[in-house]
This record gives sequence, structure tokens and C-alpha cells, in this order.
Amino acid sequence: MPAIRTIEAYAVSLPRDVPYLGPLGPGETVNRKGYIVRRGNRTIYPTTDMSVIVRAETADGTVGWGETYGIVAPRATLAILRDVLIPVVEGHDPRDAATIYDDLYDLMRVRGASGGYYGDALAAIDIALWDLAAKEAGVPLATLAGGARVAEVPAYVSGLPKATLSERVALAAEWRDRGFRAFKYAAAVSHEGVAAEMAALREALGPDPDLAVDLHWKYSVGEALSVARGVAPSRPWFIEAPCAPEDIDALARVAAECGLPVAAGEEWHSVHEARMRLPRARLAIVQPEMGHTGVSQFLAIAALARECGARVVPHATIGVGIFLAASLQVASTLDHCPMHEYQPSVFDRNVEHVDTTMACAAGLYRLPQGAGLGVEPRASLDRYRLPD
Ligand code: MG
Repeated sequence: MPAIRTIEAYAVSLPRDVPYLGPLGPGETVNRKGYIVRRGNRTIYPTTDMSVIVRAETADGTVGWGETYGIVAPRATLAILRDVLIPVVEGHDPRDAATIYDDLYDLMRVRGASGGYYGDALAAIDIALWDLAAKEAGVPLATLAGGARVAEVPAYVSGLPKATLSERVALAAEWRDRGFRAFKYAAAVSHEGVAAEMAALREALGPDPDLAVDLHWKYSVGEALSVARGVAPSRPWFIEAPCAPEDIDALARVAAECGLPVAAGEEWHSVHEARMRLPRARLAIVQPEMGHTGVSQFLAIAALARECGARVVPHATIGVGIFLAASLQVASTLDHCPMHEYQPSVFDRNVEHVDTTMACAAGLYRLPQGAGLGVEPRASLDRYRLPD
């Protein structure tokens, strides 16, 4: 196996018609850097789709791709990649990805840099190394990750980016008519109320579709239990991220007491964060995000989820499709992964900038084909590179 010769990293910024999560809500404005603070969850979002991409090349010219969050301040992640990680990784064997991840994690773990931008940078490197190793072996990444069980992964529609409840319900009905049977909406922009939105969706879509709500970490235990009582008559598939991510006791209490399946985990970067929570909080569903975890930690979290009796329903966020391809590849190997998140407002717009057979239609993701991840950036993506 040829060693990694060079790695480069860059960020892209792709325009959007409508901001992520939907039109601006009451009191929300775009600031001078192009960001919006959503009042519903006090979280900052960009008005373009930004992403950080890693290109790794071995001595024989094989190229592997990685990607991570560039959602806010992507140059912070680029600085970590360029100054800290890339010089350490060059010269290594890409098949050692999981060990390399651990070694890179060690470089900064006692400086409080086990997650955040540092964890994201690790994820991008890790995905690129797995892509390289699979390409050198001439097999899909899923084969290296244990072997694909399926060629298609069921997809749920996430986000209904419309301004009013009636428009969001109509949008969900459109997706239902296109063959999708599971839907999730966001409490952060559920201006008419979380329970009212769940009830309206159930009323419009009928008894069969799976309905979930992302609570965006915004409630106290008491509030979350009250929200759970409000949505319970609509028989939700799950409620997601009810309480502040640091408050493990709160997550555990809500999971134990709300009487509904609880999902969490999109913000975790590593199995260390999962291990602090999973044995204590009886989650029904764990939602690893490949853009934060990379392949190595995604696999570790999925294994821990199995031990703890939780299903894996991977998260999908803003990206050009590289880490999403990795997520689908690994999801296809898991016997406890019934569904994968699908964000049409991201995937459908950005997939045109990558060469891939990956697609999502009629309620199913089709896995990318070919060796490695099965996704390569197109030249069109270069037009959207952010200047350094
Ligand atoms: Mg979420």
C-alpha cells in the first residue's frame, strides 16, 4: 500500500435560495458576515452551504476525499488541518485510519480539543484515509467497514423549510406523494407550537407515516416532559435532543420518563462522548453524524449503540455529499440501522457538484457505487471555493 504523499484542504460556500431551516422567522436577520441566529434554539447558521473538503493523495497517485462541517467559520477547521494534522499524517499508510485517528486525537486531548473544530478536522482526515484504503483495495468503503447488507437505505425527510404550518404540512404531503413515509420537523422553527405541528402532520398524512420532532436541545426536563405529553397523542416515532447537550442527567430523565422513544447523538464526535451518555440515558435511537465522527468513530459509536440496545439512525447535515456517502456506506453494513436522515434542501441542490450514483428517491437512498466512497467532487465545485 503506497503511503500518503500529500493532503490538501479547502472550504467551499454554495449559495442557497432559502436559508437552512427555512425563511427568516420573527426578529431574525442576516448579520454582516452572512449568518443568522435562530431565535428558536439560539444557534447560529450560515446563509450559504459551507463545507470543508480534504483531498489526500498516495505516492501512486490514488486520490481519497474527506469532508467535514464548514457550517460556521470553516477557516478555523482549515487552520487545524493545515497546521496540526496534515503534516503528521503525510507518510502514513491509509489502511491505519482508525489508529491514526486515535494518535491525532491524542495530540490535543488534554488541551480541551477533543471535539468541536478539532474533532471535525479529524473526521475529514479519517474519511479521506478510508476512501484511499478502499480505493487501493478496489472495493467499496462498505466492504472495508464490514460488508454492505443492503444496496438501498430507507430515508426520512428532515426539515420542512416553509414559513407557515399549513405550508409545512403541504410540503410533507408532497414528499409523502413522492413515496416517502417518515418525516421530521424542527422545533426551532415550529412557530405555531411543537404539539400543534405534530397533530397537523398526523391529521394530514394519516396514521401510517413515522413522525419525529427535533427539539434542538432547548428544553428543561419539565418542559421536555410537557412537550412529550403534547405530542404523544400523535404517536411520534421519536423526539430528538430534548435537553442541553451537556446535561446528561436531563437526557437520561427525559428518556426514562417521557414514555416516547428518544433520539440523540448528532453532536458527538467520538465514542468517548457516546460512552458518557449511552449507558446512562436509555436512548431508543443514536444519530451519529459522519461529518463529526469520521468512519472510525462512527463505527465505534454504532457498536456501542448495539450493546446498549439502541438503533442507529444517522444524522445528515450541510455538505456536498462526501461525508454523506461515507455515512451511507457504513449505514449499509449495520443490522441495527433502519433509516437514514435525508435533508432535501441540502442533498438535492449540492449532489450536482459531485460525480456519484448516490441518489435519494421514493423513500430510499441508493448507495454510491464504485471503489472507495463512490463520490468525487466535480470541477464545478471549484467555482465555490472560499479564498484562504
Ligand atoms: Mg437534529
